[in-house]
Order: sequence, then structure tokens, then C-alpha cells
Amino acid sequence: MTDAAANTQVFVITGPSGVGKGTLISLLRERHPGLGLSVSATTRAPRPGEVDGVSYHFLSPEQFAAKVDAGEFVEHADYSGNRYGTLRSELERHRETGGVVLEIELQGARQIRVSMPEAHQIFIAPPSAETLRKRLVGRGTDAPEEIERRLAVAEEELAARDEFAHVVVNDDLERAAGQLDAIVSGYHPPAR
Ligand code: ADP
Ligand code: 5GP
Repeated sequence: MTDAAANTQVFVITGPSGVGKGTLISLLRERHPGLGLSVSATTRAPRPGEVDGVSYHFLSPEQFAAKVDAGEFVEHADYSGNRYGTLRSELERHRETGGVVLEIELQGARQIRVSMPEAHQIFIAPPSAETLRKRLVGRGTDAPEEIERRLAVAEEELAARDEFAHVVVNDDLERAAGQLDAIVSGYHPPAR
């Protein structure tokens, strides 16, 4: 299983929905242009502006199940009524790039911890539960009932932060981005 990512530093970035994982990863990749991003597969419907094959590989439930049966995922999980997973082919695509980021939820991070113990796991935490709610609402991508579902899952996710070797509190964006950069730079020197 770890073979797919041979020679590649794998960075697992997890944390509750709306905490700022995507925002921080964009900033991180500006500082580390050689760092690849694993494009996940999902059965969730695309949000406006999301592009198939770039934001996600958008699959039907049947297509997703077929890939599970074929052993094409290194991890997969159910989240808020949809399925999400990391395709082995995404790790292979970044095999030679020196580093790849997986932006995944808690159950997937736990699976990777078992199958790829050499991966670096980083938990992104909100400064408070109230801030998390405000960010999810402010992002404007999810209906109120979906936001409530995500906040319910977040309670469980936040309780897991001590499982992670690295925790970044996303309070001030620049500060948090700097801390994440420093962690990643310890394993993956930025381009000169
Ligand atoms: P995630 O990928 O974890 O679901 P996003 O990156 O989409 O989260 O961020 C959720 C919302 O919070 C976005 O609207 C984003 O612009 C905002 N955001 C992210 N980080 C911060 C921060 N440090 N301070 C204020 N707003 C932030
Ligand atoms: P969203 O619907 O907001 O894009 O993602 C919902 C949750 O699924 C987020 O916590 C995100 O990190 C997680 N996620 C995205 N891709 C994957 C994946 O490949 N595997 C797992 N386990 N979770 C994922």
C-alpha cells in the first residue's frame, strides 16, 4: 500500500469542515510549488465553480463503489451523507514530485496512519467552535441544515486533535500559514 507513494513525502491535513484547510493548503503550495495535491474522489455534487478532475473526481455512488471493490482507494470514508476517498492513482501521479498533500477528514486520516505510518499528519483546529460556525456560514457554500450536520461531525473531530503530532490553530491566517509552512519545510524544503 505504501508503495504508491515511494520516494514521496505524504502530508495529511485534516480538521473540521470550514476550519480553513483549503485556504491554508493554497498558501502552502504557493510557498512549495513542488508540492502536489491529491485530487480526491467524492459522490458529493459539485459546488458552483468546482471543476471535475481539479476540485474532485466527481463520481456516482455506483462508480465510487466499483472503485472500492477494485481496491483503487488508499482510504475512503462516509461524511455527511456522501463518500470521499483518496485514489491510489493520485499518490502514484505525485510519486516523483517529492511531496503530496492529502486534504481529508478524520476517519481517512486514521486509516492512513495505519497504512502509511511514515506520512506526516497535521490537524488544523479553529480558535473556537463559534469561529468555525461563522466561517462555514461565511463561506456560503452549504445550506443551513448541511452546516448543522458538519458542525455535529466537527465535535467528534475536535476531540481527536491530540492524536496528531502537529496541530495548527487557524486563528490569524498569516500566522497559521507560517506555522504550517515551518512544519512542512522540516520535511520538504521549499523551492529556492
Ligand atoms: P475547509 O477547507 O477546512 O473546509 P476553507 O478553506 O474553505 O475551509 O475556509 C472556510 C472559510 O473560512 C472560507 O470562507 C475562508 O476564506 C475562511 N477562512 C479560512 N481561514 C481563515 C482565517 N484564518 N481567518 C478568517 N477566515 C478564514
Ligand atoms: P467538502 O464536501 O467540504 O469538500 O469536504 C467534506 C470533508 O471531506 C472535508 O473534511 C474534507 O477534508 C473531506 N475529504 C475530502 N476529500 C477526502 C478524501 O479523499 N478522503 C476523506 N476521507 N475525506 C476527504
